[in-house]
Amino acid sequence: MSEPRKHPSTLLAHDGDVAIDAGIAPPLHQTSLFTFDSYADMNDAFAGGPGHYIYSRGNNPTVQRFERAVAELEGGHAARGFASGMAAISAAVMSNLSAGNRIVCVRNVYPDAFKLFRHLLVRFGIDTEYVDATDVDLVAARIQGARILYLESPTSLTFTLQDIPRLSRIAHEAGALVIVDNSWATPLYHRPLEAGADLVVHSASKYLSGHSDVVAGVAAGTADAIERINRLEYGVLGGKLSPFEAWLLVRGMRTLVVRLARHRQSALEVARYLSTRPEVQAVHHPGLPNHPQASLFQRDFTGSSGLFSFEMAEAHAPDIERFVDALELFHLGVSWGGYESLVYPASIGRVAAPAPNAATEFDVSPALVRLHVGLEEPSDLIADLDSAFERMKGGGGRG
Ligand SMILES: *Cc1c(COP(=O)(O)O)cnc(C)c1O
Repeated sequence: MSEPRKHPSTLLAHDGDVAIDAGIAPPLHQTSLFTFDSYADMNDAFAGGPGHYIYSRGNNPTVQRFERAVAELEGGHAARGFASGMAAISAAVMSNLSAGNRIVCVRNVYPDAFKLFRHLLVRFGIDTEYVDATDVDLVAARIQGARILYLESPTSLTFTLQDIPRLSRIAHEAGALVIVDNSWATPLYHRPLEAGADLVVHSASKYLSGHSDVVAGVAAGTADAIERINRLEYGVLGGKLSPFEAWLLVRGMRTLVVRLARHRQSALEVARYLSTRPEVQAVHHPGLPNHPQASLFQRDFTGSSGLFSFEMAEAHAPDIERFVDALELFHLGVSWGGYESLVYPASIGRVAAPAPNAATEFDVSPALVRLHVGLEEPSDLIADLDSAFERMKGGGGRG
């Protein structure tokens, strides 16, 4: 006698019990929970036994695939994926803080990291002091009693570098932990953990994903630092990375080497072109020989990426609106790291709430314009900039 036919609701609930697993692309474990064969298995998982999955706010195999790749590239013991760069930064920072602790932070830090420190952590009795971290002696003087030294090399918008090996030694001597935002260089061009940092954080929304279709983050670090994140913050703050976005990240990272080589080369070409323009007063690009920390760059970095800024000469600062509106290949937009070229005028950041925001706090020049150089042909991008300069001066807008 055949088995009685199951109800459609039962059939649908068991569709896909059999996995088909010979594809070259990794499987996507888009599941919220994992089931157990027995009480004993489940009990073992809850007691922290290895080899079990429970719930995707904790571990998920697709997310772990991304985490292992980043840990390996950064030379870290482990890595943890997050729903955004800010979730990674929040968990990394908060896993090391208690009420009354102090943070020493580089000036011109990413604006939302500033917002976290200045407007949220301050409510829990955490004070943050912002220092010009190109001045090693100043950091040494201010680090006493701090719990965290928070760095970002290069800094947002201004692109200044920090001496991570020396600052890490100074911080560790003072009992502080070092966290470095490495989104700009990616582990291909800079490895702060090898220079002594305890934790590296990334916006994986940028180069790691590379296609402007993912918002994600990751923290990589020493066994202790990642263990502290796992113990509490990862699960209870709940900013976990979704399996689908982890899957896209694994896919995107396969081309990271070739994408970055192109961004690097094209951005240098565009930066050199801008250096020749009479309307431009300064170009802030760590890979240019006249950058103030060019020797640090040569020592610690093996390449530059596609993001940098320039300052319009004072006489043309009021024309920035016309300039960006005249660009056709550079889209006006935040973020960066995708295939497309973008322009971001720093003056826009001054209107962001709540006050003070990073642009006003760090007094970022309203004449500063940030460019992300995408994967387009650099001569086309230069022609676009060329005609925008002409239209800016001619008083015409987007044609
Ligand atoms: C974008 C960015 C972040 C924040 O990452 P999200 O993924 O947007 O949360 C952090 N640091 C730097 C340097 C960034 O550019």
